[in-house]
Amino acid sequence: MNALTATNRNFRYAARILGLDSKLERSLLIPFREIKVECSIPKDDGSLATFVGFRIQHDNARGPMKGGIRYHPEVDPDEVNALAQLMTWKTAVAAIPYGGAKGGIGCNPRELSMSELERLTRVFTQKIHDLIGIHRDVPAPDMGTNSQTMAWILDEYSKFHGHSPAVVTGKPIVSIKRETEKQRNKNDLGGSLGREAATGLGVFFATEALLAEHGKSISNMKFAIQGFGNVGSWAAKFFHEHGGKVVAVSDITGAIKNPNGIDVPALLKYKKSNKSLNDFQGGNAMDLNDLLVHECDVLVPCALGGVLNKENAADVKAKFIIEAANHPTDPEADEILSKKGVVILPDIYANSGGVTVSYFEWVQNIQGFMWEEEKVNHELKRYMMSAFKDIKTMCQTHNCNLRMGAFTLGVNRVAQATLLRGWE
Ligand code: GLU
Repeated sequence: MNALTATNRNFRYAARILGLDSKLERSLLIPFREIKVECSIPKDDGSLATFVGFRIQHDNARGPMKGGIRYHPEVDPDEVNALAQLMTWKTAVAAIPYGGAKGGIGCNPRELSMSELERLTRVFTQKIHDLIGIHRDVPAPDMGTNSQTMAWILDEYSKFHGHSPAVVTGKPIVSIKRETEKQRNKNDLGGSLGREAATGLGVFFATEALLAEHGKSISNMKFAIQGFGNVGSWAAKFFHEHGGKVVAVSDITGAIKNPNGIDVPALLKYKKSNKSLNDFQGGNAMDLNDLLVHECDVLVPCALGGVLNKENAADVKAKFIIEAANHPTDPEADEILSKKGVVILPDIYANSGGVTVSYFEWVQNIQGFMWEEEKVNHELKRYMMSAFKDIKTMCQTHNCNLRMGAFTLGVNRVAQATLLRGWE
């Protein structure tokens, strides 16, 4: 099922549970603004390349719109629309004062050089600079983008509006040229300590909270992790450090398994130098497609959307699914999995650690004061625990599963803010 159809379906179901007025439902569903721009750049060889960039601003009732920018060949307006809407509910679930947005450029960042990526990012920023802003819409990294991308956006935006570190989050911590002087100047561009690991750490706190509810803990649980990029690799590291057994890992280059648990620090080192999981000695190669149906207790999809669908859901062995990716489970798979008794921790809660620390970064930029990493992580844990409690309360009130608990929580907060602000 298309990502937008699936997200709209979940929203409508939540709206029905909450008994929302149909006119309010329609107004919450339709995006605030959809931006589509042409981004033409000269390639390194002098030829012209044209890409299409999007920024979908979904809702701003609770605060400035917030969400990542992704660079991926499959970026299309429907998907960005769905992801923007998910950000609105995610920031509301996390109880941070933002609305939701998402952006993207249809391109393959692996096929572009650093200078081509820089030119593309600058052209995109030139096209959207007067529609984003510290109190309007605050982009961040997503798939295919990183802190370097944010530094370019900050630089380009600042040419029009003056130095504005809070206009993007997920910024670098050290300036690129001074990497050897980590202790000094670490706040050159206004990045926050802990932001890089935040989504993975949030996934860890969320998993800990869910397992505790079921009388279990991370230690000795078997984890299968799809995706070993910024989210999956940090999540794997935290599970491993707390005694969890990571029995299978995959990324786009390949998949490996080890029933006794993969040595995650060794795999991280291997991937850093080889840029691939292939031929890692601490496990056996396996088929990429088998990861989602691999024998494990906890399955953690950390990559693309829609990976769990009606084709594979019946074969999933895990008892718990932690949605570290955005929209990894199709509604049809959702139904099959719940019939099997699989407990799913939904994306709009499970991966909210990233945007929560983005909020801390924005707060630090506005304060002009940098927090210690311990404070960032401590506050992240507090936000994650509190959101879990709020979701559970909604589940009890409405007698629904965790996905609808999270959706009703998020949608209700946005609906209340919208009603209080009025229509005029
Ligand atoms: N791209 C991340 C997400 O999907 C982070 C967004 C942000 O920090 O604004 O939640």
